Amino acid sequence: MSELAYPYEAPASQALFDRAAAVTPGGVNSPVRAFRAVGGTPRFMVSGTGPYLTDADGREYVDLVCSWGPMILGHAHPEVIAAVQEAVARGTSFGTPAEGEVALAEAMVERVAPLEEVRLVSSGTEATMSAIRLARGFTQRTKVIKFAGCYHGHVDSLLAAAGSGVATFALPDTPGVTGAQASDTIVLPYNDLEAVHAAFAAHPGEIACVITEASPGNMGVVPPLPGFNQGLKDACVANGALFVSDEVMTGFRTSRAGWYGVEGVVPDLMTFGKVMGGGFPAAAFGGRADVMAHLAPAGPVYQAGTLSGNPVATAAGLAQLRLLDDAAYETVDAVSARIQSLVTDALAKEGVAHTVQTASNMFSVFFTDRPVRNYEDAKAQESFRFTAFFHSLLSNGVYLPPSSFESWFVSTAHDERAVQRIADALPAAARAAAEATA
Ligand code: PLP
Repeated sequence: MSELAYPYEAPASQALFDRAAAVTPGGVNSPVRAFRAVGGTPRFMVSGTGPYLTDADGREYVDLVCSWGPMILGHAHPEVIAAVQEAVARGTSFGTPAEGEVALAEAMVERVAPLEEVRLVSSGTEATMSAIRLARGFTQRTKVIKFAGCYHGHVDSLLAAAGSGVATFALPDTPGVTGAQASDTIVLPYNDLEAVHAAFAAHPGEIACVITEASPGNMGVVPPLPGFNQGLKDACVANGALFVSDEVMTGFRTSRAGWYGVEGVVPDLMTFGKVMGGGFPAAAFGGRADVMAHLAPAGPVYQAGTLSGNPVATAAGLAQLRLLDDAAYETVDAVSARIQSLVTDALAKEGVAHTVQTASNMFSVFFTDRPVRNYEDAKAQESFRFTAFFHSLLSNGVYLPPSSFESWFVSTAHDERAVQRIADALPAAARAAAEATA
C-alpha cells in the first residue's frame, strides 16, 4: 500500500457515513457494508448501470459485488426496469393473491426439478427460518445440523456457528440468541461426512434436518467435495431427517437450475433469494409437495407475510429469470473465468501465495497456497494481504466485497471495457498485497 492507509479520499461518502452514524447503528443497514474488515470509508452509491456503480463523489467502479449476487444481468437492465415500471404503475402492493407471484413460482418450478411447490417470502433469512420451522413441524423433531462458515441469514438458531468436534452443542454467537435456541443447533465442520454420521449416531430420532449452503460462498467460495452433498442426502434419508439445500446465493446464478443444476443432488427443501428477486426483496422456499403440504393454510405449520409475493418484486424477478437463458450463463461463466485468470496472473507475478476457488461463476481469492475446504482453512489465510489488495483496487475503480470471506460476483454486463479496467488495476493491487505486512 502507499504511505496513506487509504489513498483515495471519498469526502461525500464520508459525510453521508457521518450522517448515517447519527441515526443508524454503525451507519449501515447490514454490517459488512461498514468496511470494518478492511477499514476506510464505505462508498455510498448513487447509481448503477451495467457493470458499473457510481458513488456520491462521482467516482465510477467496476462492480464485483453485484449487490451480493442478485444483479446477474448488471445494474438497471432495461428489460428489468421496464417490467418494474409497468408493475409499479399498476400499484405497489395489494395484500391479495396476484398473477405475478404465480408466474414467478411457475418459472422457478420449471427450472428446478426437485421444486414441486414454492412459497414466496421477502428475504433469504425468512426463507431459511421458514424452511427450518417446516422441517421441524414435518418431522416432529427439534435439532438442526448446520456447518461452520455457512451463513443462512440472521435466523436465531442458525447464527450459532461456535462449537467444534462431533455433535458439539453450539453456544450462541451473538447476544440476543438464547442458549435454548442455540442448543438445538449442532454445528459441524464443512466437508466432513464423518462428523455428520457421528452426530446422527449421537442423536437418534432427534435431528429434523441438515441445512447447508448448496455450495458455500459465505466463508469465501468453498465448494462441496465430490460426494459431500450426496452423502448428506443419504444420511438424512437413512435417519428420517430432511435435507435442506440453501440456494439463496447459488440459486439461478451457478446455472439455470442453480447448484442443483450443477450437481443433481435432490434436496427435500430448498431456499432461494437474490437472483430470483431481480434486486428487490423477494425470496422463497420450496421442495417436496408432501412436505410443503404441511404449510398453512394447507397444513398446520404457520408462515405468512404482508409483502410476500409483492407485485413489483415478482415482476422484477420474473423479468430477470426470463432473460437468464443458457447463453446468459455462458457469458457470466466466461467473464468470471477471465477475471479469475487475470487475478491469478497478477498475484503469481508478484509471488503472492493465493488460491482461487470457484463454484461455476462464483469465485473468491484466498491468500494462502493451500486448498480451503472449511471455515478453519478459510480463517488461516493472510487476510491482511486482502486488505491491501482491496484498497488498491478500490482506489483504481474496482469494487470488491469488503471482506476476504465473501464470494465475488460478475454479470452478463461485464464487457471488454469493464474487464480491461480490472486488468489495468490488478498489477498495483498485487504489488500492494505482496508488500503488505500483518
Ligand atoms: N442464505 C445464504 C446462503 C445467503 O448467502 C444469505 C445472504 O447472503 C442468506 C441466506 C440470507 O439472505 P438475506 O440477506 O436476503 O436475508
